[in-house]
Amino acid sequence: MQKISDELRREKKTIGFVPTMGYIHEGHLSLIDVSNRNSDITVASIFVNPTQFGAGEDYREYPRDIEMDKMLLKKRRCSFLFYPDVDAMYSKYFKTEVYVKDLSRFLCGIRRKTHFKGVTTVVAKLFNIVKPDIAVFGQKDAQQAIIIKRMVEDLNYNTKVIIAPIIREKDGLAMSSRNVYLAKGERKDATVIYNSLKETEHMIENGVRNVSIIVRRIREMISSKKSARIDYIKAVETKDLKPVNEIKGEVLIAVACYFGKARFIDNIIVKV
Ligand code: AMP
Repeated sequence: MQKISDELRREKKTIGFVPTMGYIHEGHLSLIDVSNRNSDITVASIFVNPTQFGAGEDYREYPRDIEMDKMLLKKRRCSFLFYPDVDAMYSKYFKTEVYVKDLSRFLCGIRRKTHFKGVTTVVAKLFNIVKPDIAVFGQKDAQQAIIIKRMVEDLNYNTKVIIAPIIREKDGLAMSSRNVYLAKGERKDATVIYNSLKETEHMIENGVRNVSIIVRRIREMISSKKSARIDYIKAVETKDLKPVNEIKGEVLIAVACYFGKARFIDNIIVKV
């Protein structure tokens, strides 16, 4: 991959990069479109990165379908797929980690203590392998996007990070490879996440600014679904993920909850 990237750069081609864990869906493909619009060549990676899964999480069960993924990526004009195996990424001597302080501790970092360290370490490696001019990430993983942007600035990567909007199913559920885990009833219940975020938008349009009122309403809506178990509902500043008590300026409202065994996240950014 490094040789291919060097060759592309010699040919003065700009490289766009879309890192994924595969089981490609329309959310991933929208990032390929953004990459294609902003670069000459798009490289995607598929790597179910073991270091970003905690003990008891779904690393083994994570859905995989490489043949389907290849077909979908090709159809969407993704030129290269980097698809390493675990031993190629982590030799038995592997010791180096990249950790973005503070930002990795909040929100999802509370329950998933080592998750973002796994993400930043693997993305740092992938950037050194693919050498992209631009890299596209989804707003779906809002905290990840903020952390990657911080890492790129702090470590002087010569890569521009673009954050692309959340792609949703018709009923509003954010697309995710993990949606296949949902049993029929859970799938129906899961639409409450986006509905509660939409309701939040309406409340804010109607002048509500108090975060505890907003969080209470989201909690009430999600709790009304039998299969839902809330992890967190938070309103935070988009730059540093610090909690806010009042909606003012730009605020990220992020939700994580379980349906059955699987954990789902979603968010909106509101501006007043
Ligand atoms: P994943 O394969 O889940 O690790 O996701 C790979 C990339 O796709 C990440 O940058 C995600 O934020 C992004 N992504 C996942 N789902 C969506 C979605 N529904 N809309 C937009 N981007 C997404």
